[in-house]
Amino acid sequence: MDKRQKSEENWAQWFKNHASSFTGALFFDEPLARYTFYQIGGPARILAAPKCLEDLKLLKEGVEATGVPFFILGKGSNLLVSDQGFEGLVIRTHQLNLEVQTTESEKASDSRDSEGFLLRTGGSVLISSLLRKTAQEGWSGLEFWTGIPGSVGGAIIMNAGTHLGESQDRLTRVETYSLERGTRFGPSIFTGEDLKFQYRKNLFLPPGHIIWSADWRMDHVEPEKVKNLIDETLKRRKLTQPIDYPSCGSVFKNPKSSGKNAWQVIDQLGLRGHIEGKAQFSEKHPNFIINLGGAKASDVLALIRLAQSRAAVELGIELEEEVIFVGEE
Ligand SMILES: Cc1cc2nc3c(=O)[nH]c(=O)nc-3n(C[C@H](O)[C@H](O)[C@H](O)COP(=O)(O)OP(=O)(O)OC[C@H]3O[C@@H](n4cnc5c(N)ncnc54)[C@H](O)[C@@H]3O)c2cc1C
Repeated sequence: MDKRQKSEENWAQWFKNHASSFTGALFFDEPLARYTFYQIGGPARILAAPKCLEDLKLLKEGVEATGVPFFILGKGSNLLVSDQGFEGLVIRTHQLNLEVQTTESEKASDSRDSEGFLLRTGGSVLISSLLRKTAQEGWSGLEFWTGIPGSVGGAIIMNAGTHLGESQDRLTRVETYSLERGTRFGPSIFTGEDLKFQYRKNLFLPPGHIIWSADWRMDHVEPEKVKNLIDETLKRRKLTQPIDYPSCGSVFKNPKSSGKNAWQVIDQLGLRGHIEGKAQFSEKHPNFIINLGGAKASDVLALIRLAQSRAAVELGIELEEEVIFVGEE
């Protein structure tokens, strides 16, 4: 057994020894393809799905005791996981905090809009179910997330959005817990000026912080109004996006300084429809790389690297990845 295998064994043993105190699910050597929209990815040495704060605390103790590297997994809709998987602990947040509630006590302090109110959502809440609820209740403000298949936590990390807006537009407060080794375990609150973002990127969350909850500035409107905007946007997306195939949505950020969208750059390079292995630049929307069935991370990466090098050499354009790569290339 080499040094790397030995430390992996030590990490796994610690979590096996403490499994009886953990109320969520624990898996060992679990294929991550099951948990990503791409349906791609090798195994995680340890996969933990915490259900409560006590579970999170135990995971933090494991990180402190063993030094295991960890990765936070939301719904896996913006990830490309290595074919070799992840040597460490993957923390799947999907059942950690599913609260959705108006925060009555803070209504009065929201002076920007007298009809407004604050909505608190757990980081694990799925955007599609949240939007269904907002349409039923007539809560307007988050329609810009329509069609984004991730969780609230992932949408804050990514500053996810559409032509209608992005996460930063309505966010007022974020509560996190740090699992980083050497930090204290307790809530951290980010508000106001702390909440700094760029296009598809947050600039304020330190590494290793799990998003527990977030507050959003909302307005009361007729439920039909929210529903209609969501329905129209979904219809439009269905026409323009290859949603019948596994993907991570847009692979590249739009290279704004070039005045072009990423799909136009890929098109200009003649890569629309181009295939490597079982991955393809979609014919319908070339900034989506789709899994035609059985694609490997290396197929998707080959397409990414091909577009990046040709865009740089032939057009002088830098294509930056929006998708997050997990594990080793
Ligand atoms: C078909 C399709 C269409 C898409 N369309 C859009 C679009 O229109 N606009 C857009 O912006 N994106 C789009 N995406 C990409 C993706 O849905 C978003 O980036 C989404 O916000 C990712 O959320 P997630 O929960 O899946 O996060 P994941 O993909 O699981 O993770 C993304 C990042 O967030 C971190 N993370 C996740 N949850 C937490 C948490 N609770 N605490 C701390 N860190 C966390 C992860 O560590 C990782 O760094 C699309 C994806 C698909 C598959």
